[in-house]
Amino acid sequence: MERLQKVIARAGIASRRKSEELIKEGRVKVNGKVVTELGVKVSPSDKVEVNEIQIEKEEPVYFLLYKPRGVISSVSDDKGRKVVTDFFSHFKERIFPVGRLDYDTSGLLLLTNDGEFANLLMHPKNELDKVYVAKIKGIPLRENLRKLEKGIRLEDGKTAPAKVNLLSVDKKKQTAIVEITIHEGRNRQVRRMFEAIGNEVLKLKRERYGFLTLNGLKTGEARELTPHEVKQLR
Ligand code: URA
Repeated sequence: MERLQKVIARAGIASRRKSEELIKEGRVKVNGKVVTELGVKVSPSDKVEVNEIQIEKEEPVYFLLYKPRGVISSVSDDKGRKVVTDFFSHFKERIFPVGRLDYDTSGLLLLTNDGEFANLLMHPKNELDKVYVAKIKGIPLRENLRKLEKGIRLEDGKTAPAKVNLLSVDKKKQTAIVEITIHEGRNRQVRRMFEAIGNEVLKLKRERYGFLTLNGLKTGEARELTPHEVKQLR
């Protein structure tokens, strides 16, 4: 048995809070009867309708994908480019990515059909570390890397403190490899942070998300999260 608002949120219709509002507004029916109380629990056999539409009940599934470059973090693309859910076309569940990686970014991406789980992880309050390795053009000045660590002003505001590690430099090619750990998830954030100190990102890979890594996976491969991992992420 699960709380009604949780079942609605998991179906991806609304956040938990919005689901509660839908219930209070009398827009939710359980087995044909309007329910306006928040405490009600439902079992998988109960029929739940929101605005007269029955919600689909699927078993929640959770995947970790090693996204290759050149793939859109979406469920469809109007230009017909490859999307991350193409890697799961043999599954019946309708999954979607938790957040996104840029088309040209590779690395760790979670996918699920559990809307509530996705909302939880994407909430700004959720401060999971995201570790990226960037190949950048030019050799960054130490003081500029310090700026990235302290927080740097971007168009959409100053970034939160980050961890920055210069891993290697190639003096001949004038490139460097830098590991950067952030917990925010703004659009093209890592690329914009390096741009702000004058170093274009040539290659970007997300290597870690919280405690999850790409260990054991090759690019384009995916695995299911274990129930224990899912529990830890919640
Ligand atoms: N930061 C970026 O700039 N791009 C990504 O894909 C992820 C983080």
